[in-house]
Amino acid sequence: MTKISDIIVVGGGIGGLAAALSIVQRTNKSVTVIEQAAEFGEVGAGIQLAPNALFVLDQLGVKEEIAKVAVFPKRLVLKDVYTAKEVAVLDLTEGFQEHFKHPYIVLHRSDLHRVLFEACQKQDRIQFMNNQSIQSVQQTDGQASVTNQNGEIYRAEAVIGADGLKSNVRKLFSNDKPICSEYVAYRGTIPIEEITSKDDVAMDDVIMWIGPNLHLVQYPVRRGELYNQVVVFKTYDYKPNGDWGTPEEMAKRFKGAHPLVVRALDFISTQFRWPMFDRLPIENWTEGNVTLLGDAAHPMLQYLAQGGVQALEDAYVLGEALEIKATYNEAFKHYQAERQPRSAMVQTSARKWGQIIHAEEDGVTTLLRDTIFNNHKATNYEVADFLYNYFNVRKGKVKA
Ligand SMILES: Cc1cc2nc3c(=O)[nH]c(=O)nc-3n(C[C@H](O)[C@H](O)[C@H](O)COP(=O)(O)OP(=O)(O)OC[C@H]3O[C@@H](n4cnc5c(N)ncnc54)[C@H](O)[C@@H]3O)c2cc1C
Repeated sequence: MTKISDIIVVGGGIGGLAAALSIVQRTNKSVTVIEQAAEFGEVGAGIQLAPNALFVLDQLGVKEEIAKVAVFPKRLVLKDVYTAKEVAVLDLTEGFQEHFKHPYIVLHRSDLHRVLFEACQKQDRIQFMNNQSIQSVQQTDGQASVTNQNGEIYRAEAVIGADGLKSNVRKLFSNDKPICSEYVAYRGTIPIEEITSKDDVAMDDVIMWIGPNLHLVQYPVRRGELYNQVVVFKTYDYKPNGDWGTPEEMAKRFKGAHPLVVRALDFISTQFRWPMFDRLPIENWTEGNVTLLGDAAHPMLQYLAQGGVQALEDAYVLGEALEIKATYNEAFKHYQAERQPRSAMVQTSARKWGQIIHAEEDGVTTLLRDTIFNNHKATNYEVADFLYNYFNVRKGKVKA
């Protein structure tokens, strides 16, 4: 059992790659990223990245590469799924960027993943291994090792579990299981030229059509060459191990929706079905020389578009902790002390935001929501400080 590097990162998603990059940039450690898939890659859908992600991408030195493939929308818009009335708007132009110091962008996940992967490949101290499904983690004498599906063991000084929602590394800390929200998503991108009517796309907006127990998100990606759509709805027919949230049910749930929404459903790929899971926050995800990051640590519902962003925040803070602390355990504890409360807050806020946007028509929540939204100005940026201003508030507070 030979040591393969100083640190093993389990999982080569957005979080794992950003962590590897952050660590080699801030320390002299070597990192091996171990991935279960045959190739490093991401699903064919879009991702929204708020200014708190852009700060990290800037620090990692990839912001310019990202900008080449991103779209810089001018507005975040909530629309009523039946009437198309704009319920609330957040202006993303100059004032927003002045307030948060970075822009809001949308891009294809595979573009984000590729830019991070290429930046990692340029680093001599980052190695990659594929086709390795890590089953367990062990710690002895200040060392850590992982065991793959064939019983092969790889040793390092420390292990970071960035293995997503169904993390095996997390089993060291908790026997909890992912919680099914009974919501399902269908998502994908289509070439912009395949959308014949100009009315069907809003190239400057990220639109979330909201309604009771359902929503549709739309925005352009890859410099505007592709249009991304995500349909989400709650099933009325949940069966723990069965076929629920089918495309047929989607058509039923969206009955009566605005014609623009109904037309949008025709473009949705129903090939892949994504049941939506999260978990409740856990207090501890660090022990000895092992810690967690991203969805492995704090998987959340996607309603605030912050799951990937939180993984990026983790990556930055973890790199910094390893730079300023003498031992892995000190660094991981320091990292967790900052990241656990922050990510738990975002995790629980995502659930609450889901309740707000999916509220039943004519219910009290809808009434309150609409009153608040009616009084909201598009340039009232303070409402988003709790999410997007993390690094601006944090600046000056971090001590070695
Ligand atoms: C519909 C939807 C929309 C979303 N929209 C947004 C958004 O707009 N903005 C945003 O910030 N977030 C969004 N998210 C959340 C975001 O996708 C996740 O939070 C993010 O991908 C987490 O990154 P990660 O690297 O921690 O985990 P993952 O992306 O899950 O990566 C984990 C990696 O580990 C690998 N792996 C898993 N198990 C093992 C194992 N045993 N051994 C080795 N490798 C393993 C996997 O193959 C994968 O490559 C959305 C999520 C969904 C479902």
